[in-house]
This record gives sequence, structure tokens and C-alpha cells, in this order.
Amino acid sequence: MEEKGPCVECGKPVSASLASKRKGLCLRCSSKSNPFFVLYNSLIDRVCHLPGGFDTLSDAEKLYYALTLFRNEINNGGFHQFFFNSSGSYYDLIENGLVNFDGRQTLELLRQAKQIVFPEIAIPPDTKTRRHLMPPTPDLMNTLDELDQQFYRSPDLLSAKLEAFAREQGLVSSPIDDN
Ligand SMILES: [Zn+2]
Repeated sequence: MEEKGPCVECGKPVSASLASKRKGLCLRCSSKSNPFFVLYNSLIDRVCHLPGGFDTLSDAEKLYYALTLFRNEINNGGFHQFFFNSSGSYYDLIENGLVNFDGRQTLELLRQAKQIVFPEIAIPPDTKTRRHLMPPTPDLMNTLDELDQQFYRSPDLLSAKLEAFAREQGLVSSPIDDN
């Protein structure tokens, strides 16, 4: 039997060995105390629920939001999902952001994926239009899958850079405790 103890915040039973790695917190409470998790959720909330949505964000918030969304979509469903979902609407912002953020590797993968899915045109910002132009043929999916695998194999440099950016720009206010 695995030893369990109460989460120090909500009291839910949690494996003692896991809780010790999270300052005695269950996964849920631990996520809620992560300032980057809190920041991203508040941005999603504003984009989805405020009139004007994305346009109400500052330039720094727009960049942080779009690049985090990009990383999450690729990690979740690869480049096809990224272009297929609303995330693809932010392509230009993401491409420009990666020029400054992530060195060359992720940027090159994104540009290759763009050349495969939309070889002749700029990426349509409108999601419906984009979807009409990207039928999921086996060829397309196979080629994109190879890019996905390259993305998953490369080290995640983007996350650390996004966190540094959020601190520099004052998007997270709480002091960071890395212990
Ligand atoms: Zn808890």
C-alpha cells in the first residue's frame, strides 16, 4: 500500500511521495499556485469571455498567449491541429515571436509545416477558411507527423524562454520559488 497524506491546502488524500515533491500539495493545488499556469488561464479567460477578446491583451500578453497556445497545440495534437484550431489564426505573431524566442529549431519546423499545408499563400487568419484549404490527405498527415516527431524530440527551449519573458514583462507578479 502506498502511503497517503492530506494535501496541505485542500485536504484531499495524496500520495506522500508525490506530495513531498510538490510542497505537500495535490496536483490541482500545486498547479493553482504556479504563477504561469495562473497567468495563462487568466489570458484564456479574457480571450474567450471579454468583448474584443484577444484585442484586449497588451502586446506582451498577446505574444505570451499565442506562443503558449502554439506549444500546447503541437504537444497535444501536432501541426495539423495547430493550423486547424483557432491557434492557426495567430501564425504571423507566432512566427515573429519565435524569431526572437527560440533560436532556429522550432521556427524551422513551423515554416516547413506552413510550406506543406499552405505552400502558395499567407495563412488565412479566418479559421473556417483555413479548414477548407487543408483537407487531411494521408500524404499531408504523414509529412506533418514527421515534423511533429522532430518537435517532440527536440528539447523544449520555448517554455523556459516564455517564463523568462513573462517575468521581464511583469506578467507574473509573485516571486518565484524554485525549490
Ligand atoms: Zn489540494
